[in-house]
Amino acid sequence: MSPLRDIDPEIAELIVKETERQEYQLEMIASENLASLAVMEAEGSALMNKYAEGYPSARYYGGCEFVDEVERIAIERLKILFGAEYANVQAHSGTQANMAVFFAVLNPGDTILSMNLSHGGHLSHGSPVNFSGRLYKIVHYGVSRETETLDYEEIRRIAQVEKPKLIIAGASAYPRVINFEAFYQIAKEVKAYLLVDMAHIAGLVAAGIHPSPVPFADFITSTTHKTLRGPRGGFILCKERYGKLIDRMIFPGIQGGPHMNVIAAKAVCFKEALQAEFKEYQQQVVANAKVMAKVFIERGFRVVSGGTDNHLILVDVSSKGLTGAEAEKILEEAGITVNKNAIPFDPLPPKITSGIRIGTPAITTRGLKERDVEEVAHYMCDVLLRPEDRKLREEIRKKVKEICLKFPFYRK
Ligand SMILES: *Cc1c(COP(=O)(O)O)cnc(C)c1O
Repeated sequence: MSPLRDIDPEIAELIVKETERQEYQLEMIASENLASLAVMEAEGSALMNKYAEGYPSARYYGGCEFVDEVERIAIERLKILFGAEYANVQAHSGTQANMAVFFAVLNPGDTILSMNLSHGGHLSHGSPVNFSGRLYKIVHYGVSRETETLDYEEIRRIAQVEKPKLIIAGASAYPRVINFEAFYQIAKEVKAYLLVDMAHIAGLVAAGIHPSPVPFADFITSTTHKTLRGPRGGFILCKERYGKLIDRMIFPGIQGGPHMNVIAAKAVCFKEALQAEFKEYQQQVVANAKVMAKVFIERGFRVVSGGTDNHLILVDVSSKGLTGAEAEKILEEAGITVNKNAIPFDPLPPKITSGIRIGTPAITTRGLKERDVEEVAHYMCDVLLRPEDRKLREEIRKKVKEICLKFPFYRK
């Protein structure tokens, strides 16, 4: 008796297929995770029908007494989780969280200093095809050629020459610890605002495994659906003195009504993230990523920066004669989902690339530990080292399915 099946069997069937895809393959896209059924229940609730433009106790609609309480709880939990002075939970996405911060402190034409997209930065940090690249003057820093890690002296040098009004620290494909204090010093020296975009590592920060940007950043933006393991969405943290300004920039600045169902799901996610088990989970995420890096290195692959401190690794598959696009395809045929990704100074275009990005958040949510990840990493290397061998991919696909059966998620 499913209302969706009755009304729209076509979409219902596609949802079943996608659910099965998630259940029976190993998801290793570093920006993805598997949110709890409690988070999903909150998001799929009656709250989705409620308009609530404005903020708790100051809405433009009636009937907001319960959603007011939901938003207040989400804000309080988020402030506690990160030890922040002020929080806005209405941003629909990480990109919109960034947009609100840009609108709060920049005028069109102002200069932003951010990480080069091809070295691990994000589209919303000034890509020419994104609004950020169209509205602002963008200058980039990257990683050093030798270490493939951030060179803070070089970032300082660029900041002193370019005099940006805003510096962004944060990345989508950077496997190492980011030194927020160093960014803070540089921003202070050139009188720039510092925005830390912790979308990828928010879960690690919440668990105390990655140093927190809160003491150093004027603004912190994040998504809730990556390592933090909540619903798709964003949030902003800031110093109390910027709070009202940030609120105004989100609504009415760039958004209309908040998605109260998503805010409820964020509140559930923050509650989960405040539990002791969440810290254990994040520790396991990093332990699993380290095992993944170790196996790839043992099997002769070059791993960018020589390893990882967080939830992801970047593998230079050109070291074994493959492109990122080929590697992504081969792994997909073996039941493992990753994404092709540029490596620093990649000679190949973004649609091909020399690398793949591998993340452990979702498989760790399923319960895989070091031993299991070692097994999976060897399967990955097996198929990548024999790209002609389709039969091997079939065999590995069966083994991957067995692992999926052993570590169920939706079937639990
Ligand atoms: C994922 C990500 C975002 C944006 O996320 P969306 O919710 O997809 O807009 C922003 N910044 C960084 C660094 C990210 O990795």
